Order: sequence, then structure tokens, then C-alpha cells
Amino acid sequence: MDITPLNKWIPNLKKPLVIAGPCSAETREQCLSIAKEIVKNEDVRIFRAGIWKPRTRPGSFEGVGEEGLSWLDDVKKETGLLTSCEVATAKHAELALKSGIDILWIGARTSANPFAVQEIADFLKGTKVPVLIKNPINADLALWIGAIERIASAGITKLGAIHRGFSTHETTMYRNRPLWRIPIELKSRLPGLPVICDPSHIAGKRDLIQKVSQKAMDVDFDGLMIETHCNPDEAWSDAKQQVTPESLKEILGSISVRTEYSHDRNFGQELDDLRDKIDRIDNDLLESLQERMKIVDSIGKAKIKSNITALQIHRMDELMNKRMQIAEALGLNPQYIKEIYDVIHDHSVKKQTEMMNETKTNKED
Ligand code: PEP
Ligand code: MN
Repeated sequence: MDITPLNKWIPNLKKPLVIAGPCSAETREQCLSIAKEIVKNEDVRIFRAGIWKPRTRPGSFEGVGEEGLSWLDDVKKETGLLTSCEVATAKHAELALKSGIDILWIGARTSANPFAVQEIADFLKGTKVPVLIKNPINADLALWIGAIERIASAGITKLGAIHRGFSTHETTMYRNRPLWRIPIELKSRLPGLPVICDPSHIAGKRDLIQKVSQKAMDVDFDGLMIETHCNPDEAWSDAKQQVTPESLKEILGSISVRTEYSHDRNFGQELDDLRDKIDRIDNDLLESLQERMKIVDSIGKAKIKSNITALQIHRMDELMNKRMQIAEALGLNPQYIKEIYDVIHDHSVKKQTEMMNETKTNKED
């Protein structure tokens, strides 16, 4: 995939790239007053505002529509911030481009729909506009990658992904569960693709935004999109998760930004030494697992001889309890050890079941 690095299209890029602004554009004055406050903070480079709002149920505020596009143009003229808005149809994209919106994003409900993404992609062919693609609301990495590929196939190279969490029917501390391994896997599947975290839609409430933003920096994301409003409690959408420009400044000031590499030689040497140790320990672990598997094999053979089932629930409970007690005594989190042993034990049972099936097939032959 042809991806233009972020620093080639964002002048004087500093990490993290910050996108801020209200969930929805409400009035011209609201957009301008927010933009004038956030631009005082030089970390903020892009203004966001939803013009068309995909609402879960009809009857709630569905965005000001086309009219709001000129407000974003005023924001750009008066503050110099780049502007961005969500597009959900080819028509939205056409209107946004006509009004000079700098960056488009595709929302979570739209990226879950390949027809809609393809229609937008077809319209964007021949343009060079940057496009950010939010993860689909459901935890489906392939669908997210598919949406990115559709936009990339239209010749768009200024691309980025936005991680906004995944919807769930369970009650959790988040509005949308972050499931970090999904965006992390995306980073490894599409190296070079900028990934931006949207802690506002993950958190759903303002208290959690700092923590989620820090986590995003810890896993080396490139940017943050944070919903910001001068009067969050009165916002026409997503009131609970929006922060004031002052708290945005506090949040950004409080997060430690880590980079993947350091130019400090001593640090590099120390890290190399520690990694050597980890490599040796992992080698030992793998050799032990190999050794363990051989024994599982011998037990399998013995069980076949005596016609005993592969899974013996008492033995499994006993094994798990013992391992967890040892883990606790060693200061390891028993839950962590339980998860590892669940996988190890599952594979042992699977191996023995396969052996038993083979014996049966051979007998039938
Ligand atoms: C938004 O950014 O305001 C929005 C609607 O987000 P999402 O598509 O992530 O729900
Ligand atoms: Mn929102």
C-alpha cells in the first residue's frame, strides 16, 4: 500500500498529532470560539467538527449539514488550523471538498459498510485529499483493513487509521472497548500507516480520556483526536465525553510521549543487553514447552493403551490450582498464569485427541 508519511503532509509535525474540536458543529460562533481557544495550544494542528451526525436513533440532533461547512472555512481562515469532518456518502465528500475541508474522515458506522466506503472511494478517485478511516464499530480487523484498502485503491496515499474502540453489549468502564491488540495488529499488518487514537469515543466520559491517551502513546500511536467544546455539558451531542480547551491543554501537558527509538547510546546498549536476556529466557521457555509436548505425547500413548479419555477434568483442576499457587508464591499474577495454562492445557488435550483419532482411523483401515 502506498502511504505518504504524516510529516510529508502535516508541516512541522510533532508527536502526537492532535486533532481537536467539537463532536458536532452547532453554530458558527461555537466553532470559532472553540477553534480560537484550542489554537492557543500549539500542539493542536487540526480542527474537527461533525457536520453530518450518524445517530443511533432518529429524533436526536443529526448535524447542521452543508451550512456548517462554511463555518469550518472560517475556522481555517481565522486560526490557520487545518479542518476535518466526517463523510458518510459520496455526496458528503463532494460538498466537503468543494468547501475546502482539508482532511476527511470515515466514521465507524460507515467503515463497517463496504458499499458505502466503495462509493466514497469511487468519488475520491483523482483527488489527493487525506482520509482517516475509523475502525468499524464491530471488532473486525479485516473489515477495517478492507475499508483502508478501498480508499487506498482510489489512489489516496495520505491515509491514516483512527482507533475509536469497539461497541459491546456488555457493561464496561468504556463506552467502546479499546481492544488494543486490534490496532496494534493493524500497525504490524500495514507498517507506515499513521494510527490516531480517539480516546473520547473509547472513554465515553471525560475522566478517562487522559488514561486512554497515555495508553495510546505507550503503544506508539501517532496522534490523538479529542472532542473539545467550550461548554461541554451543553453540547448537542456526546456531552459527557467532551472536554474544555483548558482540560485539553492539561491532558496534553500530562501525557508522556514515548518514541519507538532513542538516540541515546547508553540507553540503546542497556536495552540490547536486556533484550538478549529476554531472548535467552524465551529460548529456555520454548525448549521446556518442546520437552513438555514430548511428555504429553507419551501420556497420550499410555492413555490409548489403557483406553482412557484425553481430558480428565480432575487432573486439569488440580494442575491449574497447583500452578496458580506457585505463581502466587513467585509474585506472578495468577490470572496471567491461568491464561497461559489454559492455552497449554488445551493444546495438550487437542494433541492427545488427535492421537486417539489417528489410532481409531488406523484400526478402521
Ligand atoms: C464522531 O467522531 O463524532 C463520531 C460520530 O465518531 P464514530 O464514528 O467513531 O462513532
Ligand atoms: Mn462524537
